Amino acid sequence: MSINNNNNNNNNNNECFMLVLSSPSGAGKTALANKLLEIDNSFKLSVSVTTRTPRKGEINGEDYFFVSNEEFSRMIKNNELLEFANVFSNKYGTKTELVNNALINGKNVLFDIDWQGVKQLKDNLKISDQLVTVFILPPSLSELNRRLKNRALDSEETLKKRMLEAEKEISHWVDYDYVIINDDFEKCFNKLNSIVNAEKLKKFRQKNLEKFTTFLKFK
Ligand code: 5GP
Repeated sequence: MSINNNNNNNNNNNECFMLVLSSPSGAGKTALANKLLEIDNSFKLSVSVTTRTPRKGEINGEDYFFVSNEEFSRMIKNNELLEFANVFSNKYGTKTELVNNALINGKNVLFDIDWQGVKQLKDNLKISDQLVTVFILPPSLSELNRRLKNRALDSEETLKKRMLEAEKEISHWVDYDYVIINDDFEKCFNKLNSIVNAEKLKKFRQKNLEKFTTFLKFK
């Protein structure tokens, strides 16, 4: 893995990959990410930095690194962020060091970032096939609206804004490698897991494959 900024490190494992999940909020991406992290210890979550205020129950360093606007600007200036974007009037970014360390330690990295971040990752990575992007679609906008209402995290006004943002986010699905419609959580997770397993089987990600096939020839 090569990350094209000042923190370039050639010790990264080429077998590892960066899996991005994007979706409008309410489409189930966080639950999918949590389940993947729970069952597959080859993954490490890229905990993002954000200027938004923590929601009830969110833990600094686990859900996000919650920072001030000044700290966020300092991180950009110091080239500490691999990508960053404004989402829903708040700033979000990915810590380069965290991603690099995970890759060096042989971990795949899981990202929960929006389409703007994906675009920047694509531009910043030297080896494009290390990036695997998955877009999670809700079954319909009305179902998304229903899920957001049930979540009861937002005021009526914020909910309206979220729905407008959702439509914008959804328009970027075409730029992703894979698309999954989340009409049923278990089915959706199984599809995500199939993608992960297929990606792991790509020949360039399998260590010692050449040695093994040479051995087969002479057996
Ligand atoms: P929330 O505030 O609901 O946790 O996240 C809002 C949106 O910001 C989500 O769509 C999420 O994917 C996106 N997001 C979270 N972290 C990052 C990040 O580091 N970079 C980018 N580009 N988007 C992020």
